[in-house]
Amino acid sequence: MRYEEWNKISRIASRKSLWMLHFCTGCGAVELPPVMTSRYDMERFGMGPMATPRQADVLLITGYLTVKTLKRVVNVYEQMQSPKYVISFGSCPINGGMYWDSYNTVKRLDRYLPVDVYVGGCMPRPEGVMNAFLELMKLIDEGKARGWEKYQKYYEQYKRNQKMAFGFERGKNEGD
Ligand code: SF4
Repeated sequence: MRYEEWNKISRIASRKSLWMLHFCTGCGAVELPPVMTSRYDMERFGMGPMATPRQADVLLITGYLTVKTLKRVVNVYEQMQSPKYVISFGSCPINGGMYWDSYNTVKRLDRYLPVDVYVGGCMPRPEGVMNAFLELMKLIDEGKARGWEKYQKYYEQYKRNQKMAFGFERGKNEGD
């Protein structure tokens, strides 16, 4: 079997069997219980919660991120096995949201980690979260959820942005 065929079969199988690790950084954490339990029941799509990064496929960032928390999030992301995916909730990881002028929050998560799906809003409703899961599955199916490859390809650039945010290197990220 050729690599492309094997890759396609693997994507079809994995999109309906995703283990999710939620890093509850902001207000979005309150939207997860209805998504995970019987009201919206994400398990009907084949998604389940996972307690450790090493066995998780999807990392959820559920709101604003302080610089201190970003260090832990990067540590968690780098422990996950590829292929791996990131979903970010709310306006805060997109553009800073209501913390846009805070000195110690990250304004654009995608400068530090590749984000596959964004869920806009402050805070997104559970329906929006469910849509994000379905969108991720569609992207995986089409071979377009490739953030993890981007992280490998542009690793030096991501590391440089992370070090600047942590104060290990001089400079300022555009937008932060
Ligand atoms: S987007 Fe709104 S709800 Fe989400 S973390 Fe930011 S302030 Fe909180």
